[in-house]
Amino acid sequence: MPDQITSLDLLCLHTITTRPWDIDMAADKYAERGIKGITVWREALEGHDPYRMGKHLTDQGLEVVSLCRGGFLPSTSSEKRDNAIDENLRAIDEAAALGAPMLVLVCGADPGQSLELSRGQIVDGIAALLPHAIGNKVKLTIEPLHPMYADSRSAINTLKQANDLCEQLNSPGLGVAVDVYHLWWDPELEAQIERCGEGDWLDAFHISDWRTPTTDLLLDREIMGRGCIPIRQIRGWVEAAGFNGFNEVEIFSNQHWSGDQNEYLDSIITAYKDHC
Ligand code: ZN
Repeated sequence: MPDQITSLDLLCLHTITTRPWDIDMAADKYAERGIKGITVWREALEGHDPYRMGKHLTDQGLEVVSLCRGGFLPSTSSEKRDNAIDENLRAIDEAAALGAPMLVLVCGADPGQSLELSRGQIVDGIAALLPHAIGNKVKLTIEPLHPMYADSRSAINTLKQANDLCEQLNSPGLGVAVDVYHLWWDPELEAQIERCGEGDWLDAFHISDWRTPTTDLLLDREIMGRGCIPIRQIRGWVEAAGFNGFNEVEIFSNQHWSGDQNEYLDSIITAYKDHC
């Protein structure tokens, strides 16, 4: 399918990928290059009315793919857990106003307690949020994170765990985001992607690349094709599982953020055509 591979129709950018630009600038630059999708990070939305911003983005021909991000549900403190629920309810409202069909969840973890306990609190937290999400037609999308983040960012570290969660909660308001940066190493990845498809909850596909050596655990992601992740192969697996949504470029990079954002965005588009 060479046309599908090179077309920009399924390309989506996360606003954080071009973090130095504010959301208006990012939207202008994406739209001007023919990019069709945008995933909005809450930090980019701060100070804006989400409903008006959603309309503005749509008017520019951009489809709002998702709102990033909610989650961070576990804590040793019950007060912090309650606050996290309130914050996520607000995030669901924002997603609905923005016109985003899903809120991506970085589920959270607390190094002060066991992963098992954190996972239990994630299940309870998501269960508490689901009625509000469903009522607002916003899906909660679980993004499993690489195990290097298991201490404080997410106790959900494999696609199997995310699939198990979806199966356990069995809700039409719950789905999964496959991010190649977090999951590429997993020998079970292809089988678990297939399982996502069978469960009909594969809702998002995030791309970037893994740089060697990685100099920062969080902020040293690479443009696709410059690292070791077999992105096109994994894209083949998600599409074989029935996914036909956007390919969302999500790059956190101190190095790229310090350079010229126009050149960087052009490199991303070229890399998308060549390597994704
Ligand atoms: Zn992601």
